[in-house]
Amino acid sequence: MSMVYHSKRQCFAKLLHLAFAIPAAILLMGGHAMQAAEAAPNATPPEPLRLLVSVVPQLESVRAIGGDNVEVEALVPPGSSPETFSLGSRQMALLSKAHALLIIGAPMEKALLPKLRRRFPKLEILDMRENMTFRKMSEPHHHHDGEHHHDGEHHHDGEHHGEPHHDEETERDPHVWLSVDNMRQHAANAVAVCVKLDPAHAAAYQERGDAYLLRLNALKRRLDTLLAPCNGQVVMVYHPAFGYLMDAYGMRQLPIELDGKEPSAKHLAATIRQARALNVKAIGIQPQFNPAPAKRLAKELGATVKTFNPLPKNYLEDMETLAANLRAACLGPEAGEGD
Ligand SMILES: [Zn+2]
Repeated sequence: MSMVYHSKRQCFAKLLHLAFAIPAAILLMGGHAMQAAEAAPNATPPEPLRLLVSVVPQLESVRAIGGDNVEVEALVPPGSSPETFSLGSRQMALLSKAHALLIIGAPMEKALLPKLRRRFPKLEILDMRENMTFRKMSEPHHHHDGEHHHDGEHHHDGEHHGEPHHDEETERDPHVWLSVDNMRQHAANAVAVCVKLDPAHAAAYQERGDAYLLRLNALKRRLDTLLAPCNGQVVMVYHPAFGYLMDAYGMRQLPIELDGKEPSAKHLAATIRQARALNVKAIGIQPQFNPAPAKRLAKELGATVKTFNPLPKNYLEDMETLAANLRAACLGPEAGEGD
């Protein structure tokens, strides 16, 4: 993986820096504010760096690091699923304005990137997975990275599916953002990108990056407390997105969906037998997916239904909520939500 950067932008930033330095020097020497303003008629504030991230869980980190110097938006909008994303007019507008797209290996990227490279040759595409640690998908699972025309809500309905893939890239669990350690690396990589693209504000990016890392460390300690009692538990989920988080605490996910589709009656019956044998007490539903099969299954098993959001938008807060819901799913409602 290589990172390529705009040298033009760096020069531009340096020029702007000079434009500010000169009037400041005049002010110091003479105190003639009017003269200073006349000396630099074009000294407008530097335009913010415009970054796009692939998915919503990357937003908080890049916003925290970028501060006022960066505008950031997610290519896959909140409430949509990276499994079934397709480019719309909103995405085209964002892409045409962005300086860089920070990718993270989300399911839709593979099909999307060649198109983006053709269509937006000046857009920098930078991979935030550098130095992350990956897990393999041990659960039966397929992502569909073709272009789809779902609305991101009730998809995986047995139609319009792309071909399943079995190469190394797709065997790798793509939901890397559900590992706090990987998001520490994401933050470090995001600082490096901001510093390279906008070196005039390097110190501010570093400082804000350090502050965000401390908050991620605090999150990790809270997750340790919440999820330590869940070691050895099996939790049923619709789409197997939670492997990174569950691995870290010795938990296992039992997916309801099969190969990215709603399960057949036969498969569902087998899953119910398995869930009974494993003493599954709760089933997680995900806001991006049709909750009906999970709810049917919960009724069948006498299990409670919990919401697990695999796309945390307010990352620190939503990850803690996810952990609290996982804890309640493992230990039963009497265990409370963590305190
Ligand atoms: Zn997924």
